[in-house]
Amino acid sequence: MHVAVIGAGMAGLTCASRLVEAGHNVAVFDKGRGPGGRMATRRVEHNGATFRFDHGAQYFTAREMAFQTQVRAWETDGIVAPWPAAKDGAWVGTPGMNAPIRAMAEALEVRFGTRIAGLVPERGGWRLEGEGAPDDRFDAVVIAVPAEQAAPLLAVHAPDFAEDARDVKSEPCWTAMVAFESGVDAPDTLADEGAIGWAARNSAKPGRDADRECWVIQANPRWSRAQLEREAENVGEELLAHFARAVGDLPPVLFSSAHLWRYAKCEKNDAGALWDAGLRIGVCGDWLSGPRVENAFLSGLALARRIAG
Ligand code: FAD
Repeated sequence: MHVAVIGAGMAGLTCASRLVEAGHNVAVFDKGRGPGGRMATRRVEHNGATFRFDHGAQYFTAREMAFQTQVRAWETDGIVAPWPAAKDGAWVGTPGMNAPIRAMAEALEVRFGTRIAGLVPERGGWRLEGEGAPDDRFDAVVIAVPAEQAAPLLAVHAPDFAEDARDVKSEPCWTAMVAFESGVDAPDTLADEGAIGWAARNSAKPGRDADRECWVIQANPRWSRAQLEREAENVGEELLAHFARAVGDLPPVLFSSAHLWRYAKCEKNDAGALWDAGLRIGVCGDWLSGPRVENAFLSGLALARRIAG
């Protein structure tokens, strides 16, 4: 089959890779500028210095055999490494969290910067609508985007799936990325300190430039929700103040920026993946399995298996 996959995060790329292995012809589309999704790594050039921040997922764990096997293969390829400072069994992408996503994307046909706005029936298959979308007819479509973004794509032709997506609520997460002139006097990670849900010395993760003191500071869901409509700059300053309250005096700041993840972590949902063999529309993503990288992988894998029948 000629299959379109919308969304090049862990779920979409896992599904796409397995479909290619099964002999399908797969094209992937993502609205982002580069590989990552919620496993993004931001690279910043500032005053002649380069800073990198994993501003989405911080680390991942591998509990199920299928994901453990995949993680071991990535470790052999040098694109993930253990990060015991976070917790036992924690892994990170190297040199950035997006490394496994990048590796999967490089092996596939992925068109970034393409936001898909809808599906149009075409000669027993589907055509994609959206700026930059191809004119191709696809035999099947996989939707691998967060629930809130999946619902409108499914509403017209797969209303039951859209309903499932509408039932899911995701928590937002305001995230500050801060580079300091010198070392912050604090452990590499801290959790649940006032408004801060989690903070980590990004530069302490394996494979990073340890000479750059880069921190990622994530607000907890409650605080993030209360600041949804605020300017990033103000939110970033406040998060930094909360961080100072938690760890004490901070060195001078070289760079800071804040990002709002509107749909950071979803409620748990156990369906795994959705597939309508008549319509040839499939859905995968963490929201069908659980709020973690591993769940996104398992959902993508489950969908590929269901499509393969
Ligand atoms: P995504 O990674 O969101 O991929 C979906 C892709 O679809 C995106 O690339 C997006 O650009 C694209 N897209 C959306 N709409 C469209 C459209 N209309 N057209 C084209 N493309 C579209 N998990 C852990 O395991 N450990 C953690 O520590 C952890 N921390 C987290 C912290 C934060 C701040 C966030 C945001 C997430 C965290 N997670 C963590 C969750 C983890 O990142 C996700 O569960 C996982 O990455 C989801 O993968 P996905 O493929 O389902 O979705």
